[in-house]
Amino acid sequence: MGKKRKDLTGRRCGRLIILKSKRERNHIFCYCTCDCDSGTNKRLVHKIKEYQIKEMGRKSCGCLRGDKPSEYGSTYLGEMPNYITLQKKWDSYWNKCYNSKQNCDYSKKGIIMCSEWADKKDGALLFYAWAIKRDFEDGDRIKRIDKSLGYFPENCMVVKKQSNNALMKKQFIAKGKNITDRIDKTHRYDQINVFHNSKVNIQYLTAR
Ligand SMILES: [Zn+2]
Repeated sequence: MGKKRKDLTGRRCGRLIILKSKRERNHIFCYCTCDCDSGTNKRLVHKIKEYQIKEMGRKSCGCLRGDKPSEYGSTYLGEMPNYITLQKKWDSYWNKCYNSKQNCDYSKKGIIMCSEWADKKDGALLFYAWAIKRDFEDGDRIKRIDKSLGYFPENCMVVKKQSNNALMKKQFIAKGKNITDRIDKTHRYDQINVFHNSKVNIQYLTAR
């Protein structure tokens, strides 16, 4: 009792990437993509009971030997709530960071994505899983807390559409303080640097 459930959202298990976990009646279901689909919006999202992944070691939609197809059906990735919106956001961030034709100075400033989000194949999926877990809804925005740092989970937040300015400022300051404190206190800049691998961030961190 009281044992905290390990959430699989945003994790990879074999060929599966878990986009969302949801309790429905007596079961927790995972909504997952499988590597056997092509990387488009026509990719399928399979509904699979969480315990099959956690306890029975299921690693695919059913395409691997030993895994039965899900009896709970599937839907297209592009039809998942807010997927298209978040994919477009991811696309624009990715282009700002890595597309040299964009005339954007992000890459020069060392503003990049963590390796998981930067990945062409899985990045948008992992970014989606991150945002959905933080209750992203239509009209919400994604904000970088420290503008001198790039796109990675600790430096991004979902700003609710409904937030009034005062509340937003409060959220923002709290989050910003949190990330700065954490970096200052623990000097875990090497951990942050794994995400960044850029000189800019070392300078930022040592300057404080
Ligand atoms: Zn599959």
